[in-house]
Amino acid sequence: MHLESPFQWRGTANISTNELVIDGHPSTSPALPKSLSVEVKHILNKVLSGQRISCQEGVILHDKCDLPTLSSVAYFLKQKRYGDFVFYNRNLHVNQTNVCVLACKFCAFRRGMKATDAYSLSVQEYLGRIEPFSEIITEVHTVGGLHPEWDIEFYEGLFTAFKNRYPNITLKALTAVEIKHLAEISNLSISDTISRLNKAGLDSIPGGGAEILVDEIRDIICKGKESSEEYLEIHKIAHQLEIPTNCTMLFGTVETTLQRMIHLDKLRTLQDETMGFQCFVPYPYLPDSSRLPEAQLATANEILRMISLARIMLDNIPHIKAYRMNIGDHISALALLSGADDIDGTVSHEEIMHLAGSNTPLDNLDIDLATLVESVGGIAVERNTDYTQFRNYRRQNPPDNNGLPMVPI
Ligand code: SF4
Repeated sequence: MHLESPFQWRGTANISTNELVIDGHPSTSPALPKSLSVEVKHILNKVLSGQRISCQEGVILHDKCDLPTLSSVAYFLKQKRYGDFVFYNRNLHVNQTNVCVLACKFCAFRRGMKATDAYSLSVQEYLGRIEPFSEIITEVHTVGGLHPEWDIEFYEGLFTAFKNRYPNITLKALTAVEIKHLAEISNLSISDTISRLNKAGLDSIPGGGAEILVDEIRDIICKGKESSEEYLEIHKIAHQLEIPTNCTMLFGTVETTLQRMIHLDKLRTLQDETMGFQCFVPYPYLPDSSRLPEAQLATANEILRMISLARIMLDNIPHIKAYRMNIGDHISALALLSGADDIDGTVSHEEIMHLAGSNTPLDNLDIDLATLVESVGGIAVERNTDYTQFRNYRRQNPPDNNGLPMVPI
């Protein structure tokens, strides 16, 4: 992938092990408060000494550790690995269709084929969505509904046209359930489906659709979607084909804390085997009265606990993302102090989270993102999709930090 004038950072990235190595970022372990219980202190000491913790220990930290301590331990782990660097990329979300044969309970995006606001982009319309941003983005992120008529040949045509038009833009596309659907309607194996998509231009696979990888929860919130095992198997096959993928977690519907930890443990176990996950993206469900009315909007406390625990539990997944499309800029900034090292992104268009209730502004410029990152002491570093090339974002005019004028009372 080509990044204009790439700043060659002193770190190196090894794509085969997913390991990013940075020289010389000494980091001092946080002092644990005396008030912690023996149980919590024992688990945190395990974490700080590099030992892996179990699901039950994750639940204890979630329920019994105070947030500042949990965040500071997760931040320490992030700092140890990346120092002050915080990664972002210039990406554009293009949803190719909102027509979907499924109807997951939490989904505000899908439409039936005959809905008045159903859409299915033609190849030309899809390329046209990208055109205005093609000079400023390095990645297109494409996910959508399970269209009943689009088979492998449609997607091969779409991806080939994309690559012919935009050879320097990376294509991260199709969640596991979209790949499963495509394989089924095209009568192909998962492996053949991914291979053909890859030949046509697919570079990496996003992590969407993991929700909670516990089937009794999936049966409630997304019946008919791929099972936990199928989600993991599809990602495993992609990894075996040397296609990097991300993984996600939609939390705050009807699952328990233990089920969230089981989800993290399943991802960690697959990662031990394949090392193909690049980034974990946790995001809370954005409830409204019509979908899953029993769900509650996650508080900032809960979101930051989950991001901290993701960094602590997922000791083998390199990047933890603050998904600002979902959690907003303010909580994203705090997430960067709770173990997240990556933030999405200079997104120019996004539908799925915005239809579900997000009001995070779009069209963020590098400078806006850098300001957010710097506000918590970070250094914004632009990355490419697979984290193998980086360049510093350098602000032309550093902001005046004098703050608001003080008015004498
Ligand atoms: S979450 Fe995906 S699979 Fe489920 S209804 Fe929405 S678009 Fe369809």
